[in-house]
Amino acid sequence: MKAAYVKAPFHFEVRDVSLRDIKPDEVLVKVMACGVCGHDMILAGGAADKIQPFGHEIAGVIERVGALVRHVAPGDKVVLESGTFDRFSAHSRNGRVDLDNKGPNFWLKDNDTMGFAERIIVPMETCVKFDGISFAAASLVEPLGVAVDLVKTADIRLNNDVLVIGLGPIGLMALRLARALGARKVYGAELSVAQARCALARRWGADAIIHPDREKLTEYAFARGGVDRVLVTAPPKTIPDAIKVSNVGGIIAFLGIDYGPEGQVTFDSNIFHVNKLQLRSSFASPALFFPECLDLIQAGIVNTAELVTSTFALDGLAEGIRHFRDDRANAIKAVMVAGEAAR
Ligand SMILES: [Zn+2]
Repeated sequence: MKAAYVKAPFHFEVRDVSLRDIKPDEVLVKVMACGVCGHDMILAGGAADKIQPFGHEIAGVIERVGALVRHVAPGDKVVLESGTFDRFSAHSRNGRVDLDNKGPNFWLKDNDTMGFAERIIVPMETCVKFDGISFAAASLVEPLGVAVDLVKTADIRLNNDVLVIGLGPIGLMALRLARALGARKVYGAELSVAQARCALARRWGADAIIHPDREKLTEYAFARGGVDRVLVTAPPKTIPDAIKVSNVGGIIAFLGIDYGPEGQVTFDSNIFHVNKLQLRSSFASPALFFPECLDLIQAGIVNTAELVTSTFALDGLAEGIRHFRDDRANAIKAVMVAGEAAR
């Protein structure tokens, strides 16, 4: 079978590999769809010191299960949790499974392959059954779980005014969820070049889109002067602005990574203090809420298929990913689909 690997920045190799046998607590999954995540793009763009498998937003069909596996069977359609909690940890036993991410996972351990491959061997814990939606739509369950964690962290209430900074797939889904949760005004902030993302934000209920490359976010005339909740799906350097535009009692929920010097952020602690703000981190590891996400997609509350702006087959992965990287105006989400799974 075939699997794709990152060889050098934006250079990939599709190789013929043979998989080992599955263990009693493992499952062999035929990959039907795998989304390209921001994390994959960072990995693809970095200088890999060794050849690396990638892809973790996976939907597929079970081909084989180990002797200990009871909750799924060959033929089942599944989405794969990208991280799980250790059922035996103290945090989990104390009812905070969200604080433990040391459970079984499919990241690079004995795996020769990840999502950008024809097949992957995964721990049974990661498999969540689904039906009734396309594989491409189902591959978006993993990032939707990230968006769900973000809006839960922000504790959005009826009649809140909400700003979403960064309208990538997760920002867009979070914006849609903020609407569904009863936000009064929803604002999005995204660079003007990202036309398709801004257009989808409007279709999904944004009242206004602010382009920080054209106008200062901190000078925007928000209906309430500022906003009650800020969802940040952008680099940490945006946090100071998020604090400035928050109303009294505001909550800022943040997810974003910068491993460079811009990972260090300073902000006005007096505003933070006097306005009684809260800055909260959302980190969807372990990956929770998959059944909830499947329900949200099936009910049409978040139509993940609308995010998919390009698809490619495993054989066309290099071209598909490079095209996705370069098409900033039209690209929202790229998904690899197996031949039979064309959406
Ligand atoms: Zn991801």
